[in-house]
Amino acid sequence: MTTTAVEQKKLLINNEWRDASGGKTMDVVNPATEEVCATVASATKDDVDAAVQAARAALNGPWGKMSARERGRIVSKLADRLMERADEVSRLETLHNGKPIFESRQIEIPAAAECFEYYAGWADKVMGETIPVKGNYLTYTLREPLGVVAAIVPWNFPLLLAAWKVAPALSCGNVVILKPASQTPLTAIALGEIAVEAGLPPGVLNVITGPGSSVGQAIVEHPGIDKIAFTGDTNTGKGIMKAAADTLKKITLELGGKSPNIVLPDADLEAALRGATTGIFYGKGEVCAAGSRLLVDRSIKDEFMEKLAARAKKMVAGDPLDPKTRYGALASKKQLETVERYVDVAKKEGASLVAGGGRADIGTGKGYFFQPTVFDKVTPDMTIAREEIFGPVLATIEFSDLDEAIARANDSQYGLAAAVWTRDVKKAHYVARRLQAGTVWINTYNVYDTAAPFGGYKASGFGREMSSHALEHYTQVKSVWVDLNM
Ligand code: NAD
Repeated sequence: MTTTAVEQKKLLINNEWRDASGGKTMDVVNPATEEVCATVASATKDDVDAAVQAARAALNGPWGKMSARERGRIVSKLADRLMERADEVSRLETLHNGKPIFESRQIEIPAAAECFEYYAGWADKVMGETIPVKGNYLTYTLREPLGVVAAIVPWNFPLLLAAWKVAPALSCGNVVILKPASQTPLTAIALGEIAVEAGLPPGVLNVITGPGSSVGQAIVEHPGIDKIAFTGDTNTGKGIMKAAADTLKKITLELGGKSPNIVLPDADLEAALRGATTGIFYGKGEVCAAGSRLLVDRSIKDEFMEKLAARAKKMVAGDPLDPKTRYGALASKKQLETVERYVDVAKKEGASLVAGGGRADIGTGKGYFFQPTVFDKVTPDMTIAREEIFGPVLATIEFSDLDEAIARANDSQYGLAAAVWTRDVKKAHYVARRLQAGTVWINTYNVYDTAAPFGGYKASGFGREMSSHALEHYTQVKSVWVDLNM
């Protein structure tokens, strides 16, 4: 297992790297080795204030005056520079999160760069309209930036979820304060370096590291911030919504999920097996859209579960930095303990464990590794059928007909994603329309593209990230009336 020197990282405010004003730092732990791999500045309220002032000055200065096309060019350079540094940034993503380098380097860092590239193209295509009003007026709209946007992101896809917010915000002409999760700040800091290298003027992107409870809260309460784009836990999201009410900030929330993955008896079962496996075990199940509730038709369930358990047992945890590894370490000790707690609860409530269920060891005796875990005979009222575990634990529930499958799928407070596996095209579209989820996959799972919107129904949040829909969440509309009466 590779060990690394401890790096020391600072805050990015006004394109300057600064220590936290209180002089404090936080350790970043590599979850695969349990070693400290970096220390980062732990910001204070004063640092948030300094970032807001720098951001506001940029908005009223060079950034606010820059042409949309020039803005797009800089965002495009940022995308290029991110790909030039992709090896190094991917390594950081794996170091602080524990995900396989295969996922960081081949999928997520390229997807983040693609997101910047996509929104670079939008910069000079966000425009207003002329309106045929009554009376002799010229009436038109301007689509203007919101101002200072704070992006608060979780630890599961640290750079990608930052890109989903920072890229549209910048392209629409906003200035940004990015706050990564305490566990995974390293790639947000790298993004700050890359933004400076790409020529983003001072104050346009500021990176503030520190605990959510103090720094995150200070951001949410700050009167100088116009919008919060948040991804994280549903309870944190509710708190942000309440706290943001005092200053009437605009907010978009991408929250938790308990996504159903429905296998109908006429499905291509080999494909459904692959989809069920990657649906829950990609990213160690620390994926908001993970297919954590598997709904299988009673007539095929026993055969399906036997094959699924065999597949899960074959997935072996490995050193996340090894390019051959496909299954890494959970992101933190806390997350490992949460997963263990849910597995215990599932057993106590009578679910049947058919694969995994315990810690995994990659031969070092260290690291927060947990086996891919599958439960059968889960009933809809059990805790693991209702609560988001955010780990590699699959809850299997059976059904007897299509309407029961749909009712069970929708029986959740969440509505982030869902999938259905069937060869019947009519059934597939019927189910897609009836599922209460922001994304529905038919005969596939976990596919994304920057051009397609992503976001939640119900307690999974509101607002959409990616695609042209996100542009609405980073702009506001002004009507301008000109009297043409002579
Ligand atoms: P979290 O809510 O604890 O933390 C998310 C971010 O919010 C972190 O940066 C944290 O420091 C900050 N934060 C914490 N308390 C805060 C406060 N009071 N004010 C402001 N900021 C605060 O979530 P997490 O444990 O890091 O992430 C896991 C959760 O994220 C899961 O529930 C998962 O479903 C969700 N998630 C959702 C999506 C989606 O797109 N819907 C994507 C990924 C993760």
